[in-house]
Amino acid sequence: MPEPGTSLDHIFRPIRIGGLQLPHRIVMGSMHLCMEGRDDAGERLAAFYRERAQGGAGLIVTGGWAVSEDAAADRSYGVLGTDAAGRSLAKVTEATTGTNASIALQLFHAGRYALADSPGEVVAPSALASRVSRVEPRALGEEEVWDVVAEFAAGAALAKELGFAVVEVMGSEGYLVDQFLSPVTNRRDDSWGGDAERRMRFGIEVATAVREAVGDGFPVLFRMTGAELMPESRPWEEVEAFAGALVGAGVDALNIGVGWHESPVPTVQGAVPQGAFVPWAEGLKTSITGTAATSAAMAAVPVIAGNRINRLRDADEILAAGGVDLVSMSRPFLADPRIMEKGRSGGGVNVCISCDQACIDRSIVGEHVSCLVNPRSGYEVDFPVPPRPSSQKSPDSGRNCERIGGARRFAVIGGGPAGLEAARALATLGAEVRLYEARDELGGQFRWARQVPGKEDYGATISYFESELRRLGVHLHLGHEVGEDDADVIADCVGVVLATGVHPRAVDIPGSSLPHVVDYADAFESGLGDARSVAIVGGGGIGVDLAHLLTHEPDDFLARYGVAAPAVELYRRIGTVSLHSKRLSGEASVTVMRRSGRIGGGIGRTTKWVWLDALKHAGVETRTGLAYRQITPEGVEIELEDGGVELIAADRVVIAAGQERRDELRPLLERLEVPHRIVGGALNPSELNAVRAFGDGLRAAYELAGVAA
Ligand code: SF4
Repeated sequence: MPEPGTSLDHIFRPIRIGGLQLPHRIVMGSMHLCMEGRDDAGERLAAFYRERAQGGAGLIVTGGWAVSEDAAADRSYGVLGTDAAGRSLAKVTEATTGTNASIALQLFHAGRYALADSPGEVVAPSALASRVSRVEPRALGEEEVWDVVAEFAAGAALAKELGFAVVEVMGSEGYLVDQFLSPVTNRRDDSWGGDAERRMRFGIEVATAVREAVGDGFPVLFRMTGAELMPESRPWEEVEAFAGALVGAGVDALNIGVGWHESPVPTVQGAVPQGAFVPWAEGLKTSITGTAATSAAMAAVPVIAGNRINRLRDADEILAAGGVDLVSMSRPFLADPRIMEKGRSGGGVNVCISCDQACIDRSIVGEHVSCLVNPRSGYEVDFPVPPRPSSQKSPDSGRNCERIGGARRFAVIGGGPAGLEAARALATLGAEVRLYEARDELGGQFRWARQVPGKEDYGATISYFESELRRLGVHLHLGHEVGEDDADVIADCVGVVLATGVHPRAVDIPGSSLPHVVDYADAFESGLGDARSVAIVGGGGIGVDLAHLLTHEPDDFLARYGVAAPAVELYRRIGTVSLHSKRLSGEASVTVMRRSGRIGGGIGRTTKWVWLDALKHAGVETRTGLAYRQITPEGVEIELEDGGVELIAADRVVIAAGQERRDELRPLLERLEVPHRIVGGALNPSELNAVRAFGDGLRAAYELAGVAA
């Protein structure tokens, strides 16, 4: 059964793309995993895609594969036409064997987004560097452009030869096709630029050549941009004209992306309302079906919506509105490879929390992609799992391993991210697990994060792990602080994971024990009441989160960024409901301070600017380059770099200046000589982030269980 009260009837209806029948309306969208260029890419990618195929995915689109060396954005890309790519992709096409899934190869050219150390030459329509790579590309010669068109066609032919069921042309997010389309990046005045028609020509020639290369009947998807969200970008009429031209060139489905990688409008981060960009796909569907000149063939071309759609229930509502035919979801398949199977038959889903920390933040710099809430993602061959009981195929198995046996008892002490993942992994491996948490509730610091506007989904992570641990038979001991009295129980275990986390670091600032001074834990737990002025000492991720919690006021996200949706809007966006409100009154002032460095240090690359934008919008003042002299009843006295002294007026002061490990049980574990691993903040509180905490938990479980690859 799906989530109670949720019908997913609109998702679980078959649909055709060209000659291909798909079992449902969700596309697993393309994600560059940064393993495509590795020597062992074939085995790793096959394991990754196989789990998703066995978990109920319908159409899987691979990450982008460069159509030439020049097309690769960096060295983590696979390059079509090389022997290595051929060997890897042959394994990838086998990944869907025996499942209902089909797999599409995405044909990719980075153009001016290629980084300086990419394997080929950085080329583009015009010699204009991007904010992404800061490399000035060489403008392609007029005849040379035909060579690039031919490279796309060759890639498509190769895909068909290797056994892929579909090809997708990557024509969005600001890559090469977009660079030709947009007057922002195409300053040519030849047959490939100068007016709208000539700027469109490259994309249309690519679509035409790809169609010719694979022949009639072989499905061709084109991922195109619905809105660049760039200053001076194309008018909507040009976008519509391009969509129509692609359909005329023979593409079988349009997959609509929104925003370029360098656009100043967030499109996938947690701060973006769910489904905010669906209207652009709906507008293009209406455009290609709604005119008198529309042929029946054009009207039949499916349109796929995407961008910040994390839950099946939201996708179902989008489909129910009738404005689009399919929904593309990418990161949710990293977070939970079985999301579709669970949607069909029930089971808690590990929801993607749109943090970007282990996926997009890594992908843009060529680092191996994974998932914060599912650290096994991308590492399936390194962390094999035993087959599920009965005749069911194991959707989790990259390379199966033996169960370690229920007679072996493990204890996990601490129910934050690291402990939750350790307990889950141990139980999945077949161990008997006891999890002890001093509070009455699981989640650790995620309990605070879920209060922050835009991070509400962190609460879904806690709910998922709690239900998953109960399903796996983990014994949960909440409100139980482990101490000497538990020595017998601990000594009886064959392994212990110590995941007791951190506590706020006390600061050595005169006046820090005054009654109006609290630490960040107290501020998150209890709020700051009717404070009129707040000074936050510490401008890392926690300080920024807290300032956001105290000041955020719901508003119209698109209006804030000056973005107007197309006239068509069938799906009404689902508002996010904050679980807690600790917002101060509108007149209250908040100042975030940091001794040195930038405010928001430690926050991920692709989300930091969004959170800092939000603070600016809310009127939060930020200060750096200072020393703290003292805290007084009137506020915080700081010394500036020029020696000047200033009082930051505050009736409440919050200390958010780092954390200390909580590892008081370490001596007990050592004395009992029980094999153990210390993980997360209890191991190393500096630079603590949830990606490391979840990853530590997974590794500790496998090491203690003795089944690490
Ligand atoms: Fe989603 Fe974060 Fe996982 Fe990326 S790392 S898939 S954004 S939960």
